[in-house]
Amino acid sequence: MTHSILLLPGDGIGPEVVSQARRVLEHTAAKHGLSLSLTEGDLGGIAIDRQGAAYPQATRELARQADAILLGAVGGPKWDGLAALERPERGLLAIRADLDLFANLRPAILFPQLASASSLKAELVAGLDILIVRELTGGIYFGEPRGIRIRDDGEREGFNTYVYRESEIKRIATLAFELAAKRDGRLTSVDKANVLEVTMLWREVVDQVAREHPSVALDHLYVDNAAMQLVRAPKQFDVLVTGNIFGDILSDTAAMLTGSIGMLPSASLNEQSRGLYEPVHGSAPDIAGENKANPLATILSVAMMLRYSLNAAAAADDIETAVSRVLDTGLRTSDIADVNGAVVGTVEMGDAVLAALS
Ligand code: NAD
Repeated sequence: MTHSILLLPGDGIGPEVVSQARRVLEHTAAKHGLSLSLTEGDLGGIAIDRQGAAYPQATRELARQADAILLGAVGGPKWDGLAALERPERGLLAIRADLDLFANLRPAILFPQLASASSLKAELVAGLDILIVRELTGGIYFGEPRGIRIRDDGEREGFNTYVYRESEIKRIATLAFELAAKRDGRLTSVDKANVLEVTMLWREVVDQVAREHPSVALDHLYVDNAAMQLVRAPKQFDVLVTGNIFGDILSDTAAMLTGSIGMLPSASLNEQSRGLYEPVHGSAPDIAGENKANPLATILSVAMMLRYSLNAAAAADDIETAVSRVLDTGLRTSDIADVNGAVVGTVEMGDAVLAALS
């Protein structure tokens, strides 16, 4: 069986990190006897420049046929002047919606070698292993109506709609319970049910789904408390499940606990486990083209792709072990470097992971 993989390098550092991840993917596939067919496409700013839309028709067709997609990052100052609906980031929202990628899995694992890179004290984060499950295709980022309008009194006002259907809450909660059952059996649902009706419903539905998963211990936290607890005592958490906007913010907070946004992979899955895999970071225009970007988040995204979409857990483990071995040798890109430590570039880090895999 041949797995068809679509690569969408995107903008900024995207092409640099994806090319290292591609080498790792090809090497690991050969080593584990997996047959892959790799195609590249345009998404984001580069797609606007070449094809006139952030998620052009050609990419849409490739994406719908792929078993899994590896994305770099999209966006950058070149396109910041465009209207909101035409910007590169809309391409990302469009592909998530088109493929119905309703679940975003963001592990925040602290490799022990990097405990000193965290902004928290090492003892608070050493051994950290959290999974944040974020709803990705609903909530306020997609709710209608939305826009900027002129009021009767002539003043402008911006408005968005925060809406969740019961079925949307149910499917993300079900997935989160299933993932928690395979881990430490603890799930925390994050909402703002003291203020927002939409998350009152969220809490009610999560409680209903909990009855079908008695092996998992469920608790609920308000989002402000969750943010506080994440930086106070992050190791108390196993799996967190939350809506789109809260998940966006909390997963970046969790990113800092691990020391670098350059280390964090993510997966976005649909109901058939077809997925889009991407680093949590953006296109980092400040370091683009300088061989400075850390490719490990994208390489670890390849590991997630092997695990969740290609059903190749041994190959995924192999990549994660190789990354850990490279960190053991002291090799660091600038984002995770110790003050006086040696620093390598994107390509050299890719070389080291390949060497550790061999
Ligand atoms: P960013 O993640 O691109 O960068 C934040 C900081 O982290 C920068 O200092 C950057 O140099 C650093 N950084 C990020 N990734 C790194 C890596 N792999 N190695 C080393 N350092 C790294 O976030 P931002 O600056 O807020 O956004 C820049 C652009 O990216 C914007 O256009 C934004 O819209 C876009 N963006 C895209 C995505 C995505 O494609 N999924 C996500 C977030 C932001």
